[in-house]
Amino acid sequence: MPRMKYVSTRGQTDPLSFKDAVVAGLAPDGGLLIPSEYPDVRDRLDEWSSLDFLDLALAVFATYVDDIEPDEMRRLAADAFACFETDEVAPTVTVGDYRILELFHGPTLAFKDVALTILGRLFESILNERGTHLNILGATSGDTGSAAISGVRGRSNIAIFVLFPAGRTSPLQELQMTTIPDENVHCLAIDGSFDDCQSIVKQSFANLDLKSAYSLGAVNSVNWARLMAQITYYFYSHFRSGEAESTFVVPSGNFGNIFAGFVAREMGLPIERLVLATNENDILARFFETGRYTRGDVHFTLSPSMDIQVASNFERFIRLRLEDPTAVREFMSAFAATGTACIDDGRAICDYVSPVTVDTKETLATIADLHKSHAYIVDPHSAVGIAGARRLGLDGAICMATAHPAKFPDAVSKAIGVKPTHPRLDGLSGLPIRRTSLPASLDAVQGYLREHAVG
Ligand SMILES: *Cc1c(COP(=O)(O)O)cnc(C)c1O
Repeated sequence: MPRMKYVSTRGQTDPLSFKDAVVAGLAPDGGLLIPSEYPDVRDRLDEWSSLDFLDLALAVFATYVDDIEPDEMRRLAADAFACFETDEVAPTVTVGDYRILELFHGPTLAFKDVALTILGRLFESILNERGTHLNILGATSGDTGSAAISGVRGRSNIAIFVLFPAGRTSPLQELQMTTIPDENVHCLAIDGSFDDCQSIVKQSFANLDLKSAYSLGAVNSVNWARLMAQITYYFYSHFRSGEAESTFVVPSGNFGNIFAGFVAREMGLPIERLVLATNENDILARFFETGRYTRGDVHFTLSPSMDIQVASNFERFIRLRLEDPTAVREFMSAFAATGTACIDDGRAICDYVSPVTVDTKETLATIADLHKSHAYIVDPHSAVGIAGARRLGLDGAICMATAHPAKFPDAVSKAIGVKPTHPRLDGLSGLPIRRTSLPASLDAVQGYLREHAVG
């Protein structure tokens, strides 16, 4: 019997094993799955500090996974990390006063590869063992889609359906999805915003008949396995810094990346400060200032992967702070009904969290400054974080670089007059396109799914 159990943030689901939690994605009661406890690894930090990325990842995973053989886990993780351009997977480079944690060396050149290369392989392993199939349904504002597709393309017993807001992802991001030739990949260009896409996905998962008839699974950052994979690089980069405590600067959208930092801190990693950096879509930053979580209008910015008003992972934070699933349900239903919810007893405010909001001008200026002073080029998402660190005067902070600059050539060239390139992206534009345009309607998407699902 596995020891580690996964429970719903809303507390109305029977506990699941790790493998069941991976396959389920969302909890059946509409909440998010979380481990029943965050293991305390303080007494292992010394031992962990000298491990390479793969062994450290396996050490982290072993605290959360007890129903997959260690050898199988090693095979999956080693195979996943072999897709990265650097042996180190997530190297840190020093640029001026900052440590830049480069998370963009995976197959699609975005930080989401760190988790999704593993998740695709976990899915395949579990499905093969169980002799079942899975239809993955996800919404993307850009990077998740191509990284998710890359993780599962061509794998047996899996089909993937990715919804994205037509015309709102960068042209390159769209090409990275729509030029994948594998038949199990379905790119759905939705006539609407990212939040429309996400809402169609959420409603589909909430339809339990549909969910079980088609074995729907999720790869969005709601999947616990993704967060688990992301925990690794907080430990890894901290150990490489040689400091007693670390400050992490995290460009945030769906609250997945930074939530892994909260978990690392719960596990005992000495994190002095987490800087939550947002673009003009500042719902999260406002929450950490005021305790009030209020939906605003979506702004379209230079950092489209952070153009998000409803952060799907935020509920996990609410559960962490409020502890009580009933309070989580109340918070989430107030937000769903009125577009606003509040924690007014002070528990929203964490003294170790610094929210910061960065606009387009400051983002461009930061890209230009880093290029001029250090000949280092960052993408606009990473620049939002670094701009925040500069404004707060956080020398020595570990700033996460979440995408390769060549993924956002137009924005970068606005700042420095040159379009960065990468060999993996050159040449995409000549390839045949596979995609389907659909209206922002639940019926249209479910109709498509019925026709093309595997199993
Ligand atoms: C997804 C993404 C982010 C935001 O990460 P969250 O986990 O959604 O907060 C930031 N930058 C890039 C490039 C991304 O793709």
